[in-house]
Amino acid sequence: MSENIERVKCLIIGSGPAGYTAAIYAARADMKPLMYTGMEPGGQLTTTTEVDNFPGYADGIDGPQMMMDLQKQAERFGTEVRIGMITEVEFSRKAGGIHRACVDNSKWIEAESVIISTGATAKYLGLPSEQRLRGGGVSACAVCDGFFFKGQDVAIVGGGDTAAEEATYLANICRKVTMLVRKDYMKASKAMQHRVENTANIDLRYNTEVDEILGEQVVEGLRMINNKTGEKEEIAITGFFVAIGHKPNTEIFKDWLDMDDTGYVITQPKTTKTNIPGVFASGDVQDKVYRQAITAAGTGCMAALDAERYLAEIDIEEDIQKPQTKPETV
Ligand SMILES: Cc1cc2nc3c(=O)[nH]c(=O)nc-3n(C[C@H](O)[C@H](O)[C@H](O)COP(=O)(O)OP(=O)(O)OC[C@H]3O[C@@H](n4cnc5c(N)ncnc54)[C@H](O)[C@@H]3O)c2cc1C
Repeated sequence: MSENIERVKCLIIGSGPAGYTAAIYAARADMKPLMYTGMEPGGQLTTTTEVDNFPGYADGIDGPQMMMDLQKQAERFGTEVRIGMITEVEFSRKAGGIHRACVDNSKWIEAESVIISTGATAKYLGLPSEQRLRGGGVSACAVCDGFFFKGQDVAIVGGGDTAAEEATYLANICRKVTMLVRKDYMKASKAMQHRVENTANIDLRYNTEVDEILGEQVVEGLRMINNKTGEKEEIAITGFFVAIGHKPNTEIFKDWLDMDDTGYVITQPKTTKTNIPGVFASGDVQDKVYRQAITAAGTGCMAALDAERYLAEIDIEEDIQKPQTKPETV
C-alpha cells in the first residue's frame, strides 16, 4: 500500500447532525469511523444561536454548543474527527469494492463503506444588510425560527413551493406575513398558490424585491421595491425569512451518484443506500422535504446501521483498487 493511502472501514463525509449521529452508531458498532468535517465543522447549526426543537434539550440549546456535544459523544466511542475537505471521490461499482476519497486535493483515503452527510446550503439574496442581520432576525428556516416571532409581523421572500409552504406555516404563528415574489406569478404549485392567496394574514406582493433590511443589531423593518414601477415602501417587521432555495453539497459526487434534477442524492426508499454499493447518504444532502436536525440525525443513524449490515454481509476486496471508471449510467 502506498504511504499516502490510508484504509478505513467507514468514512464519514460531513460533520452536521447526520454525520455525528452516523459516527456515534458506527463507532459503537466497532467500525472505527473516520470523519472529515469539511469547511463548516458542526454544519449548519453552528450558524444559529438557539435550537429549541431538538428533543432532549428542555431549555433549548445554543447551536454551536449542541454540535460540540455531538462531537464529544462521537469521539467518546472512538470516532476520529479530522478537519479537511473531501475534494474528489472514486467509487467502486462492485459490491465489496473499495471506495476512494481525496482529502484537500492531496491525500487519498480508501474506505470499505462511505457515509455522505454533506448537507445543503441555504441560498441567500446576498445583501449586506441580510448578512449582517443573520441570527438577528434574518433566517433561512421558518420551521426552525418562526416560533421566535410568535404574534409579530414578519416578511418572507420567494415564490416556489417551499416559500409558499413556509409563508403559510408562519401565518399560523405570526400576526402578519408580507410575502415578496419577484415575478408577477408564483412558481409554486396551483394548490400552494391557492393556500397562500386564501390565507387572510398573508400580504402577497408580486413584482416586489428587497431593497434593504432595516436595523443595526436586529431586524426592525424592510424596504421593498416594486420592480415595475420603481416605487419603494417601508414596513415594520421583526423577522425576515429567505426561502429562495437550497443547494445540496453534492458537486463532487455528481458523476457517481443518482441525483434528482436539483442535485439531491437519491436513496432507495426507506434506506440510505445510494446506487453505489457501500455508499450511503444521510441528512439534508438527500432530503429536500424536512431539512431538520432531528431528521438529519435519524437518517445518520440509518446510514450507520445500513453500512454495518452491508459490511457484515459482503466480502470486502483485499487488493487496493485502481481508480474506477465512472459509471456509464447513474
Ligand atoms: C440558520 C439555521 C437555523 C436552523 N435552525 C434549526 C433548528 O432550530 N432546528 C432544526 O432542527 N434545524 C435547524 N436548521 C436546519 C438544520 O441545521 C439542518 O437540517 C441540519 O444541520 C442538517 O444536518 P446535516 O448533517 O444533513 O448537514 P449540515 O448541518 O449542513 O452539515 C453538513 C456538513 O458537511 C460538511 N461538508 C460539506 N461538503 C463537504 C466535503 N466536500 N468534505 C467534507 N465535509 C463536507 C460541512 O462542513 C458540514 O460539516 C437550521 C438551519 C439554519 C441554516
